[in-house]
Amino acid sequence: MISQDLIPYLVEMTGQSDRIGLISQLIKTLHKFTSASMVRYFDLHQKAVKQAEPGKLLLDFVLFEPLCPKCTGVPIEDIPALSMMIRQSCHSAVPVTCIESDAREQIIFSLIDGSKIKSLLLLNTSKLSIADETTAHLLWGMFVNLERTIRAKDQDPLTGLLNRRSFDETISTILDNITCISEPNRLGGAGACLAVFDIDHFKRVNDTFGHAIGDEVLILFARQMERMFRVADILYRFGGEEFLVLLLDVDLDKAWAALERFRESIASHHFPQVQKVTVSIGFVMVNDRDFPSDLIEKADRALYYSKENGRNQINCFDELVRQGVLADIVHGATHEVEVWDEVLPGDRVIEDELTKTSGEGGG
Ligand code: GH3
Ligand code: MG
Ligand code: MG
Repeated sequence: MISQDLIPYLVEMTGQSDRIGLISQLIKTLHKFTSASMVRYFDLHQKAVKQAEPGKLLLDFVLFEPLCPKCTGVPIEDIPALSMMIRQSCHSAVPVTCIESDAREQIIFSLIDGSKIKSLLLLNTSKLSIADETTAHLLWGMFVNLERTIRAKDQDPLTGLLNRRSFDETISTILDNITCISEPNRLGGAGACLAVFDIDHFKRVNDTFGHAIGDEVLILFARQMERMFRVADILYRFGGEEFLVLLLDVDLDKAWAALERFRESIASHHFPQVQKVTVSIGFVMVNDRDFPSDLIEKADRALYYSKENGRNQINCFDELVRQGVLADIVHGATHEVEVWDEVLPGDRVIEDELTKTSGEGGG
């Protein structure tokens, strides 16, 4: 018999519209309604992490905890129960496994996409009761269905990356979190970077080889993004042959190096039939002054500078401004006063810009 108290939690769970909210509600509910001492949720990624010999990367599995984005790329060996399960059954679709050791019981639920494990839920407990087990199965079953619906809405169907809709809906929250936790000089950590990619002369690919081969290039391009960037970085297909990445926990040099590695990996990749493809990149470092639309515009301007100056290259907006090549995008020009007047409570307002643009006493 399911406890009456569970009902509001189930309602809360079905009301979640994004994946992080859903995972967090699942964990909260499992903590409350089972005797599990620990509940953790992981996404499983295949990444190029080990250098087998100079110049050659080996693929391996890493775990990423979406609720703890700072813990990037946990090697699966760090969690032996998961490692055992993944190594044995990554392609055989086993949804639930129980492991008993030293008077502890670990239950692992896996989320399977096709024939591969995508995500894992780990419960540690001294001994689950039958009621606990029923509750855990019920919650997991609901979670899997809801996760599928949310994923379908956020995913670009061709490449499987996040889509433009997902970007528009979540970017403000993501940027707010980033600027709170990792802005330079706050935690002493690095910042974040927003980069826009546009495949060079992609129309020629379609015109020469056909749309289906063009699609294949887009898919391979997305796979290369997944391979080259860290699991915590957020990857989008922005539309057509344009992609976007939010690199987390990077300073300018690290961002530049990661983007350069990616640009080079595309330029040297052998695409079937098409053979060679290149990408132009523009990026900007995230700060807590710019709105998401400003950041996109800045990265886009740097991208177009790359296009105009020979393609297959990277430019950083902040750097181009510093060199006097591009003009900065400044908030609070006089013509924006009316917009500030309409700012609603809770909107992001830059106080000193307000007073600067609307004169003494404000607008
Ligand atoms: P540039 O180097 O200046 O970016 O040139 P480009 O040819 O890449 O840019 P342009 O904007 O002229 O062409 C983009 C092409 O991308 C045109 C469009 O048909 C193609 N495209 C957009 N979406 C898709 C898609 O989903 N699949 C395929 N195969 N092609 C697409
Ligand atoms: Mg384009
Ligand atoms: Mg293009």
